[in-house]
Amino acid sequence: MGIRADYVTRPRELIANILGREQRFLSAAEIHHDLEAAHAKVSLSTVYRTLDYLQSKGEVTSRSDSAGETAFMLCEPERHHHHAICRVCGRVEDVDCAAMDSFADALRTHNGFELDGHAMEFFGRCRACRT
Ligand SMILES: [Zn+2]
Ligand SMILES: [Zn+2]
Ligand SMILES: [Zn+2]
Repeated sequence: MGIRADYVTRPRELIANILGREQRFLSAAEIHHDLEAAHAKVSLSTVYRTLDYLQSKGEVTSRSDSAGETAFMLCEPERHHHHAICRVCGRVEDVDCAAMDSFADALRTHNGFELDGHAMEFFGRCRACRT
C-alpha cells in the first residue's frame, strides 16, 4: 500500500515510512522519538496532525491500549479484517474472519440475534517470538 503522490509532504512520508517499517502499533510519542533519532525536525503536534490526516485517508488505523494510550498502525480499515497482536514484540498480523459466518448463524439460531457488525482482536505470540 503506497502513499499517493498528490498529498505527500515530508512529515507524512517520514511517518508513513516508520509505520510501514514497524508493522506494529506505535504511539505518537514513539513515532516522534523515532523522528528525533533520525534528526528529522517534526514536532509532536505535527505527528498528531499527520496521523489524523492519514487516518482520515483510510491508510492508518488506531487502537487504545489497556493504559488508554492511542497507538497507530498502517492498515486498510476499509478492507474488513482483524489483527493478531504479538504480546512479546507487538508485531501485528492481519487475520480474515471467514469463521464469523458460523458464529452469526449460531447467534441467530440460539439467541434470535441478527449480527450486523463485530470487532475483535487476537493476542498471542508471533512466529519469531515462539522460538
Ligand atoms: Zn490491519
Ligand atoms: Zn513477536
Ligand atoms: Zn470480522
